[in-house]
Amino acid sequence: MSSTTEKSRRHHRHRKIQARVAVVGGGIAGMAAAARLAVSGCQVVLFEANDILGGKLNDRHSAGFRFDCGPSLFTLPETLEALFNDCGKNLKDYLQYDKLDLITRYHYSKGNYVDAWADQEKLGVELYDKFNEDPAKVRKYFKRIKWIYNLTTPVFLQKSIHRRSELWSLSNLFKLFALPFAGVFRSLYEFNRSAFDKERTAQLFSRVATYNGSDPYKAPGTLALINHVEYGLGTYYPKGGMIAIRDALQRLIQELGVEVRLETKVDRFHVFQNRIIGVKVNGERIPFDRVVSAVDIAYAKEYLFSRDLLEPKLKTSDLGMSAMVFHWGIKGTFPQLDLHNLFFSRKYRREFKSLAAKQIPQENTIYLYVSSKFNKSDAPDGHENWFVMANMPCDQKHDWEKITEITRKSILGRLSSDLSVNVEDLIVDENVMTPLTFEQTTRSYAGALYGPHSNSVFSAFRRYPNKHPRIHGLYFCSGSVHPGGGIPICLHSAQIATRWLIDGLRKSKVKHRSHSSE
Ligand SMILES: Cc1cc2nc3c(=O)[nH]c(=O)nc-3n(C[C@H](O)[C@H](O)[C@H](O)COP(=O)(O)OP(=O)(O)OC[C@H]3O[C@@H](n4cnc5c(N)ncnc54)[C@H](O)[C@@H]3O)c2cc1C
Repeated sequence: MSSTTEKSRRHHRHRKIQARVAVVGGGIAGMAAAARLAVSGCQVVLFEANDILGGKLNDRHSAGFRFDCGPSLFTLPETLEALFNDCGKNLKDYLQYDKLDLITRYHYSKGNYVDAWADQEKLGVELYDKFNEDPAKVRKYFKRIKWIYNLTTPVFLQKSIHRRSELWSLSNLFKLFALPFAGVFRSLYEFNRSAFDKERTAQLFSRVATYNGSDPYKAPGTLALINHVEYGLGTYYPKGGMIAIRDALQRLIQELGVEVRLETKVDRFHVFQNRIIGVKVNGERIPFDRVVSAVDIAYAKEYLFSRDLLEPKLKTSDLGMSAMVFHWGIKGTFPQLDLHNLFFSRKYRREFKSLAAKQIPQENTIYLYVSSKFNKSDAPDGHENWFVMANMPCDQKHDWEKITEITRKSILGRLSSDLSVNVEDLIVDENVMTPLTFEQTTRSYAGALYGPHSNSVFSAFRRYPNKHPRIHGLYFCSGSVHPGGGIPICLHSAQIATRWLIDGLRKSKVKHRSHSSE
């Protein structure tokens, strides 16, 4: 056992806390929060409305194919490692993953593609060969975004910016003063355009704004740090597919004694005199000392607070993008495709203008993910499992059936042309997920995949905090609150919320108990 693991074990053995805590929502954030609370000594009950854990991180099996339903890109595994370490476990015993040499293959037209290599020198050569981009500019860009990552991560991702004791340290103050040099006053696209000679290079590195549901032409340049995460720190893929991450977390919480109640939807937070005293389920009041809400914040505001608590609702214009995802079981194999592939729309700026206006783009950028390239058992021999995703506005009012038909036709046309084959003829199994599906299966309001967007320089400050400002004992984590969406960021969210909760318990009257028997 590593010394860190042993140290964290010893630490927790002496600092156990007695409290009954409800975690509402069994996605990544809810499971991570439950694990952290359980290891601190809390008695944890996790409520999940679905009959399975994982939320957006789930999969589907059909006709011999396995398809991921949500995330496909695994970055910052160290956040998961830290969670397991803090729980006295070693992630390697739960999950194996490999670092990818090739991050994404960008397809242009008729068989032309650009390989975005993890190796920055190799990427520089590729961009020079294919776009005539200056490799020195690529090198300079990576240096700059590494600096931005190191500057902003400790303040904006690992800490609460709504908790005075975490925000106002001297080192943070220096970092806040340096922010104007971190691209905050330019859009991500402008930031990238000024860094490179070629428009296409800027486009390639601006796409990452969509990773948290934002618009590359509006989100601040600071988001360029996501490129440092992907290229500088590495992109990984788990053995067994993305679902292996859900399985690892599920095993962890089971081992830590978290009580999981599946198919149990929490109807309301139970609040008395501005203090949370439990949750209401099927008309029953279940008492708890503290509650962690790990569900979509817009959904929570709409449904989980009683009328007298009047939470200001989030408007759909505040929310980030959704998506349409086709699962296509394909007969045949395509050597020109890699694990992650992208086909930019020909009118990229116009695509985001339409999305901002909650309209359906005339042409979509297509993300094509083929997990069977890595995980052979995800498709029968001689077949591939295609996860084909297009950005969509989050909204409840569209006619998704009609839009599915139009989008399907447009995507099939583009892929058939670029891959020189009639793709429709090769589909042997099919399913589609629309924003409505995401809303129904994960209770993400209007199907927004990452909660509020990050299209403004103030977005980080506007995201919902990890603790309710007035209701004592109510905490929040998830991809829709601070610090944001995506697996590693959800893990940070859970860590921030539970740290706040545990610090609060330690300060309050809740008794400590010694665990000499362990
Ligand atoms: C198509 C798609 C692609 C993505 N791609 C990536 C990617 O490549 N990389 C990446 O890192 N991230 C990606 N993400 C984002 C990532 O999946 C999410 O940020 C993350 O999984 C969110 O986890 P969460 O715990 O916040 O919420 P969720 O996963 O939404 O979990 C919330 C859970 O709460 C439950 N719930 C809701 N209301 C109640 C209630 N009242 N009572 C009980 N339970 C309730 C829901 O059923 C759900 O299980 C993607 C997401 C999608 C959908």
